Amino acid sequence: MTTIFARHLLTSEGWLGNQILTVADGRIAAIDDAADSCECDVNVGVVMPGIANAHSHAFQRALVGHTEHRCENQNDSFWTWRTSMYALANTLSPEHYNAIAAQLYVEMLQSGYTSVAEFHYLHNATTGHGIDGSMSGALVDAAQEAGIRFTYVPVLYERAGFDAATTSNEQRRFQSSADELLDHYADFSTQPERAISKALGAHSLRAVSASLLAELSEVAANDNVPFHLHIAEQWAEVEQSLAAYGARPVRWLLDNADVNDRWCLVHATHVDNDECQQLAATGAVVCLCPSTEANLGDGLFPLAAYLQSGGTIAIGSDSHVSVNPFEELRWLEYGQRLAHEQRNVAAIRYTHTGHGLFEATTNGGAIACGSAAHALTVDAPADLVCFDDDSAVLAGHGPATFIDALVFSGSPLPVDRVMVNGQWQVVNGVHRCAEAVLNRFQKVIREIDLARSE
Ligand SMILES: [Zn+2]
Repeated sequence: MTTIFARHLLTSEGWLGNQILTVADGRIAAIDDAADSCECDVNVGVVMPGIANAHSHAFQRALVGHTEHRCENQNDSFWTWRTSMYALANTLSPEHYNAIAAQLYVEMLQSGYTSVAEFHYLHNATTGHGIDGSMSGALVDAAQEAGIRFTYVPVLYERAGFDAATTSNEQRRFQSSADELLDHYADFSTQPERAISKALGAHSLRAVSASLLAELSEVAANDNVPFHLHIAEQWAEVEQSLAAYGARPVRWLLDNADVNDRWCLVHATHVDNDECQQLAATGAVVCLCPSTEANLGDGLFPLAAYLQSGGTIAIGSDSHVSVNPFEELRWLEYGQRLAHEQRNVAAIRYTHTGHGLFEATTNGGAIACGSAAHALTVDAPADLVCFDDDSAVLAGHGPATFIDALVFSGSPLPVDRVMVNGQWQVVNGVHRCAEAVLNRFQKVIREIDLARSE
């Protein structure tokens, strides 16, 4: 059992002052009023729920900073970046993958993410040998080592495009049959006591046929697990969908699938007004990845219209050009300010933009990760982040603006402690395995040597 004295605690009823959280068996056993001081195990400043990272491709952490130069054709885009991403994917062993993912998950915890949905399609350890579990095993081991709550999302990657029968040569390590993927999914054991759960996914409309999309989403529905799908990230995908299916991607999906609140649609960047309103009404989570979408030149999701229609959102660090949930929220709002030439565009359900975006994305992120609970309440999982209220970032702030200060500040995050499943993973801002994990990451990065080709 652990007792935590919090000077400020964010609960489902809002901020409370001077509270004692009692944690037992990975859950919050009690929340009680306290005097100004107490004999608790730890004494902290600002305590908030941990944030769910609803979309991650762990291996892409190794590519960060290696694609920020002009290519020979001087027409860099998502598609030229993808060529570099494929080259990286095809160099990685399970050991490489494990080291990269462990570093990434440590970084996530140190910035306040306490759970991650890993959208995994790098299935085959070597080309053409099928799913042997070594790549997914590398991820699970990394998540366990770091201590992050982990939702495994095995994803079908069937074909190279709408009109292709199979994957391209450079996508061969992603390729599997639907039966093989579903066997792999069925074999994967959910372990609530170790904070491991599972969902299911299809890469995109372009990479999975309509019939297999229906088959997979039905399995997810029967198992009552989240179903994840990239959609409408790039204009080229919209044009290809119009040519192949006679409809834009989100339009086609709304007309051909039972989209509901178990679905997590990643990006959904290019939606028109009707698609936006109808998508909001389904209850599906739209997972926005602002730093990656900016990095890849994707475009801007109509956030204000979607929130006004009651839509549910989450955030993901996706390609990991940023591993900071508060930076994702900042750029989520800044994109809208730049587009609309206004301020506080996302302040729709709350008057404070940072607080509103935090509440919206912790709620949506928990749904996308398959967890009903996202707030610090009795019986909820003990996944929380403690911030130093003596830090420069939070100086002069109180409950009304704590989260605004964290979101709209470029200063280092004043993370003090992070707990997942009742266990402290970060103390004094540093993860308990940070040094060992970094050493392994550095060794692997030297082996991969991406700089060699630049
Ligand atoms: Zn993605």
